[in-house]
This record gives sequence, C-alpha cells and structure tokens, in this order.
Amino acid sequence: MVKRPVEDPRISAVEPGLRPMLRRLREIMAEPGDGQARLDKIVRQTAGLMVAEVCSIYLKRQDGNLELFATEGLNQSAVHNTFMKRGEGLVGRCAELAVPVNEPEAQSHPAFSYRPETGEEIYHSFLAVPILRGGDVLGVMTVQNKTQRDYSDDDVEALQTTTMVLAEHLVSGAVAGANTAAAFSRSVAHVVRGQTMSDGLALGHVVLHEPRVVVTDLRAEDPEAEAKRLDGAVAELKVSLDELLGGETMAEEGEHRDVLEAYRMFANDRGWLRRLKETAKTGLTAEAAVDLVQNQTRSRMLRQAEPFWRERVRDLDDLSDRLLRILAARKFGEGPKKDMPHDAILVARSMGAAELLDYDRARLRGLVVEDGSGQSHVAIVARALGIAAVGQARGVIERVDPGDPIIVDAATGEVHIRPTSDVIAAYADKARFQARRQRQYRSLRDLPAVSKDGQRVELHINAGLPVDMTHIAEAGADGIGLFRTELQFMIASSFPRIERQLQLYRTVVTEAHGKPVVFRTLDIGGDKVLPYLRRVQEENPALGWRGIRMALDRPALFRTQVRALIRASAGAELRIMVPMVSEASEVAAARLLVDREFELARRRGIAGPKTLAFGIMIEVPSLLFQLDAVMKMVDFVSVGSNDLMQYLFAADRSNDRVATRFDTLSPIFLRALGQVIDAGRRHKVPVALCGEVGGKTLEALALVALGFRSLSMAPASIGPVKAMIRSMHVKRVAERIRSLVTESDTSIRDTLKHFAEAEGIDM
Ligand code: PEP
Ligand code: MG
Repeated sequence: MVKRPVEDPRISAVEPGLRPMLRRLREIMAEPGDGQARLDKIVRQTAGLMVAEVCSIYLKRQDGNLELFATEGLNQSAVHNTFMKRGEGLVGRCAELAVPVNEPEAQSHPAFSYRPETGEEIYHSFLAVPILRGGDVLGVMTVQNKTQRDYSDDDVEALQTTTMVLAEHLVSGAVAGANTAAAFSRSVAHVVRGQTMSDGLALGHVVLHEPRVVVTDLRAEDPEAEAKRLDGAVAELKVSLDELLGGETMAEEGEHRDVLEAYRMFANDRGWLRRLKETAKTGLTAEAAVDLVQNQTRSRMLRQAEPFWRERVRDLDDLSDRLLRILAARKFGEGPKKDMPHDAILVARSMGAAELLDYDRARLRGLVVEDGSGQSHVAIVARALGIAAVGQARGVIERVDPGDPIIVDAATGEVHIRPTSDVIAAYADKARFQARRQRQYRSLRDLPAVSKDGQRVELHINAGLPVDMTHIAEAGADGIGLFRTELQFMIASSFPRIERQLQLYRTVVTEAHGKPVVFRTLDIGGDKVLPYLRRVQEENPALGWRGIRMALDRPALFRTQVRALIRASAGAELRIMVPMVSEASEVAAARLLVDREFELARRRGIAGPKTLAFGIMIEVPSLLFQLDAVMKMVDFVSVGSNDLMQYLFAADRSNDRVATRFDTLSPIFLRALGQVIDAGRRHKVPVALCGEVGGKTLEALALVALGFRSLSMAPASIGPVKAMIRSMHVKRVAERIRSLVTESDTSIRDTLKHFAEAEGIDM
C-alpha cells in the first residue's frame, strides 16, 4: 500500500509511491513486447505498489461491454473470457458513471456481480477507477484486497494517475495493440446532433480550431519548481480573462461574456487552485497535474444531478485547456491555419466571424461549433464562404482528435465522427449526386434566366463581404440585389471608420465588373447586433430602434455611409436602398439626407457616381397601405420577405418554434406580394424581392408567376432557380396561381407542387 502520511497529509502521502510508479510505467511503455505483455506488467506492478492482492484492467469493447484484459490476482483463465455488460456490477457502474467506486465490503453491495471464473470470492475490498480520455471512458482499472480495506483518497489518486498514463498509451495503441479492443475506443463512431448554421454537405478530416495540448511529460524532477510554474500560469490565466472581459470589444451582455464570467469564477475558485497545487507537489509535472485534476473534477461534476453542473464541465474543460496552453507557452488563436488538410473540417468550441475568415478557404470544407446558432455572425460568414456548418453541437470537442474522419450534414444538423464505411459510402453517394447537380447548374452559368415563353427574370445574389464577390461570376448572377452593409460592422471588432467603409465599397464596385449592386444602408438592431456597441435595453428589439429609425435619429452615421458610397462609386452607377421603412415620411427624410450628401460632394468637387437610384425595402406591413405614396418617391423597391413574413404573422424569424409555423406559400402572404407588384406596375417602379424565399424553387416559381422579374438570393440558389425558370411557362403558371391565391385560405404549397410536377418544371 502507499505509505501513510507523515507530516503534510496530502503532499507526502502519494509522493513516495507515485514517483516510482510513474517511472516504472514509462519504462514498461518503452519496453519491447506486445500490448498484452505490457498490460500484464502494468497490473503486476500496480498491485505491488498499491499493496493490493488483485489489480485488473477491463477495457471497453466496440459493443460497449467491458472485457477483462489483464489481471494480477484473479484467475488467468478469466482474461478475455469475462465480460460485463453496460452498467453491470461494480466495474460496469464505474464505467457507466465515470466515477471511482470505493467499497470496503464489495460483495455485500447490491450492484456486485459475482463471476465464478475469476475466483474473486475471497476478496472483500474493491476500488475501481475509470480509464478516461477526454469525455470517453476507455475502461476500468481495479484493485482488490482480502481484508476490508478502506482505500484512502491518496489510493484513489494514485490509481487515477496510473489510468491517466494508461489512457494515453491505449489510444496510441502502444499498450493493447492496434487490433485489440483498447485501441478502437477512440475510433468508435459517434453522431452529434446540432443545428444548421450554413446548409451543405461536407466530408473531410478534423482540424481543431484550438488544438488541445496533449500532456506527454508526466513526471517532474523538481516538484517545488512545478508548483511555482503552475502559480505563474494561473496568474497569467486570470490576467488574460480580466483583459478579455474588460476589453473594449466586449459587449455588456451576451453568451460570450457569460462564458468568460464562468471561466473567471472557476479560475478564482480556491478549491480548484488548491487541488492543482497539491497535485503538482506529488511529483507530477504542472501539465499532468492540470490534466489529472480536470479528470477528477469532471467526474465529480458529472455525478451532480443538476444539469447546471454538468453543463459547467465544458467551461472547466476549456479553462484547463487554456491553462495547459499557457504552460506550453502556446498562444491563443495560433490554430493550424497553415498546414491544414485539403478537406479540413474545423471543430471549435466557439468561433468568431473574423477568426473563420483567417483560414484558407481553398482547404476549408466545413465547420462544427459547440456554441453558435444560425443567427450568429460566424454563421453569416460560413454561408458567405459556402461551407457546410453546424452549431450547437454539444460534446463534439471531447469526442474528436485532429485528423479524424468526419461528415457534416448541415441540412439535418448531423455530425458523424469517425463514420463507419457504410455511412461514408452513403454520404459520398449523396455528395456525388450534389456535385453532378452543381455541374448541371454550372453549364447554365452563362445563360440567362428566360422562361419557355420568353420572360426574362434577373437573378441577383445577396452579399455583404468581399469574399462574396467571386460568387457573381461563379453562380452566373446578374449582379448583387442586396449588399448587406451591416455585415462589415458585425464582424469587425470596432466601429469601421469612413476609410474602412470606403475601401470595402470600392472593392465591391470594382469586383462587380460593371454589374449592378444594390447597397443597403446599415440595418442594425433587431437580430443584427454589433458586439462593440452598447445595446439599448429593449423589450422587443425586432420592433425597436433599428434600420432607418436609427439612421434618422443618428444622421451622422447614415451620412457618413452615404458619403463613402458616393466616393466609392465615382463614374459608376450607385443604387442605395434603405431598410425597415414603415412610413412615407421616412422615405422623404432619408432621400433628403442622401440628396444633401450629393450636393455637398458636388460642391467640394468630389467625383461622384454617374447615376443614382434610390430605393427602399418593403418589409414592414404598414407600407402595404401606403404603396401609392411611396412608389412616387423612389426609383425602385425590393421586398424583404424575411421581415415582411415576420411582421405580417407576428412570428419571430429567429425562433424555430414559430418561424416555420406560417407558410411562405400562404395565399395571405402572396396576396400582399401581389399588391406590391400591382403598385409597381401602376407607377412604373421596378419591384424586386431579396428575402430567403426567392432562393427556394417552388417559392420562386410562385413569385415569377405573380409578376416578379428580379429576385435576389444566396449564390447557391441561383443554379436551381435558373434551371426552374428555364423550364417553366410563365403564362400558364400565372393563370393557375391567380385562381389559387384568390380562392384558397390555406397554403397552396401542395397544389402548386403537383401542378409543377405535372408541367414538367425542373424543381
Ligand atoms: C429581409 O428582411 O427579407 C431582408 C432581405 O433583409 P434581412 O434579412 O437582412 O433583414
Ligand atoms: Mg430585413
């Protein structure tokens, strides 16, 4: 048994036993011989050092059962012949709960499962410790004694240290051999379910955004020096968290702040700090101490009934990773941006929009984030980059290693980690099919969207970042129907000044190569949050101070943007569109501000655009009742169907529960759109649509039939919508739609779908 304490009850208790134990373990790992021989040596030496009559190792098999892999003390014939089902017996219980089981009288425990083949009836006391790596249980290590021994905390800790070393080697295959059960624990397939952030399908290999530090050096020569290193690292950790929380780019509220506040709370937790220091003094390196304490804390927290504590495990994992990184003198954000595989799928706990842009797009196929929703800024960037992305993928980090094969099916939100060959084959088929479709769409790239009866429909893309510009040509679009200028503001860490805005708009105008671009002025507020702007507390941000309301109340902001747009469009056409208009008077006020900027530029001799077109978005239902008034004041309008739908049905567009409750092919919505088309015709004002519905083939079919001749959508939708238009006969569909819209009370989706199928329209 480990020697009893002499002076300091915690520090000296383990040290004499632990150090030779670690040394001997490393020697065993380095010795030649097969995996089984190594396991046999490990149980023999652990039994000796812990003064136990029995020491055994059970490893988890692919089916989840535990198999006795090595023993000192039990019958050797039981090795590879004794199995425990999930949760069965004390060993199974230890694996299931991922916590140590310490029983002085094991045989009278209700969960005890007697196995005659092992000959264990003569042993009374029993200690089992899970073999953990990341969040996975690889197996269980036990010691047993004939006497009713009460294993001390030090005994538990000594066994945990052994399992920690063992776990690393198991995963590398160095102990149990590549073909044995131990080696594949890390290769078991997992499916994690999250939420779609950016649609798409990607097959590739894992690249960790913040790679874990793998602790390989376990034994320290000078425990005092290790404790000091740890002190220094903890101090640095606290400073870095304070800096992050106090930084000017940090919002007053929000998920990111909450997470960091939780980190800071843990970093100041005395119990955690004490355990770290005490563990370091036992002869482990500071890194190994952090790892060990984290494993112990994790199992304690996972044992708690309240979900709050189980959720906090993630925070503590992350905090330990940060501490390890400081100890390894590795900087944050020093991700593997350069040497990435060609089919990289980034896996991150959380990721900022700007960070994602740092990666090489040519090698990036997908993204999986533990936090992050479809509304987050990183999702916007993922969509702009055209990569498949899944958010809210809880538990993904602890399940993957760099280089693991992984499939991201963003349409369903499923992430397949180390998929089996069947799953890979099924997805590869799906990907091939999609690629074939993409090739078909590419062949339409240089053809216009003209219907069978000769109706030309302009197809534009929605954009907002410089990376979007190549999509015009790639997708075969007619231009940009909506340039969301707020995206630059949303992904920046501080407010972009006029020069930065000018620079972006110039790039956009140049790279559009003469194709039209509709610049929408800042649409901040509602779901569009700037991390560096203090938010005004609003009960209902979607109905609050946003879009044109903010622009008219803070004209300096609006005028600066218009000034930048004027300068950037020297010699070109400029199309400016204002969002969230709800009254004709706002149109007049905004137009006045724009005209004044033009006048000012002219007086100052600044070269301005060749022509100016001023337009508004129709996305607030009140405008439906002022259409004649506003049409007289503008050069064009564009329907923002995302917001129009949200306000018409009072259904929050970012709330999944209600967002899909009302169909975009409801006759009520289509009647509203028909009114806008009619008003546009009366006043000879072009009417476009730039919401998500324009990119869905069935919806686009209805829109074209209603009279829309300009749609703006995500670049990936251009191909399918173009193929649909080229196969439709507008007049025939228009006749059908008209009667459907006036006569139905419920969604016309099914009827329209059947009609389109019967017409042979390419959907
Ligand atoms: C809309 O509301 O439909 C729209 C296109 O604008 P955004 O999605 O940026 O609000
Ligand atoms: Mg909108």
